[in-house]
Amino acid sequence: MTFKVDSSRRQAYLTAMGIQAWVSRDRRPEVVQRAEMPVEPVSVAHSTDVPPTPARAGGFPSEMLRAALRGEADVAPLPDAPAPVVARSIAPAPQVLALHEFDWPGLADQAARCKACELHSSRTHTVFGAGDQRARLMIVGEAPSADEDRRAEPFVGRAGELLNAMLMAMGLQREQVYLTNIVKCRPSGNRDPVVDETTACRAYLDRQIALVQPELVLCLGAVAAQHLLATDLPVGKLRGRPHALSSGTSVAVTYHPSYLLRKAEEKVKVWQDLQRVARILQGGIA
Ligand code: SF4
Repeated sequence: MTFKVDSSRRQAYLTAMGIQAWVSRDRRPEVVQRAEMPVEPVSVAHSTDVPPTPARAGGFPSEMLRAALRGEADVAPLPDAPAPVVARSIAPAPQVLALHEFDWPGLADQAARCKACELHSSRTHTVFGAGDQRARLMIVGEAPSADEDRRAEPFVGRAGELLNAMLMAMGLQREQVYLTNIVKCRPSGNRDPVVDETTACRAYLDRQIALVQPELVLCLGAVAAQHLLATDLPVGKLRGRPHALSSGTSVAVTYHPSYLLRKAEEKVKVWQDLQRVARILQGGIA
């Protein structure tokens, strides 16, 4: 399935993201043009009738990026991508060891009743996940916000609207990706989840990744990126570099939309990251 966005609509979504006008050095001063959209529409359905490409077979983001860049004359080539940083696996909490055997309904039901960490006491609803359960792109945020906790759906409210605009600028609809958070229950007072909580909840996320089998996991924000990649580096050091889970699943990192609502000047970096994500997904298409 392919979703097309014409240039005017895409520009409207970029404007909604706060990406400002861009002036080409070559064309100044005659023409002031808006940020150009070099990204082709992204196919987001799993393809079952094509042979694996080298990118899929190899599973290394550096290979995928190079493959994605072939023929992309209007996209500045990336510097030689370093080897992906492979995250060490995290031992699951004993309470949730058996989740690898669950299917979608069983996993969601287990999460709804879960008391494996203290966050169960502060939730209104478990915010399990939403979207295409066979998506090529999986997006992982931090912890449910008050809006998410109330509606039992990830990425709603103002941050969710901004994420929708980010996806639309890439030519994707929200329903075409799979959305979830590092922890499924809201910490009280909007605090970040602590290590005990992210570790306790990790088995749910691991099982979701195993069921979706995305080609790429996009981490939004420091909590998601640092936990998933088992690092303490800030987002500024993690974005723009290939990463991989121990399972081989590729991972990219960018800022969380809620952060962008406070730091609008970082939206250009996020748009660069989204272009990279689109190139990776295009490279995975046979
Ligand atoms: Fe269970 Fe995760 Fe909720 Fe903790 S945050 S109670 S581990 S579902």
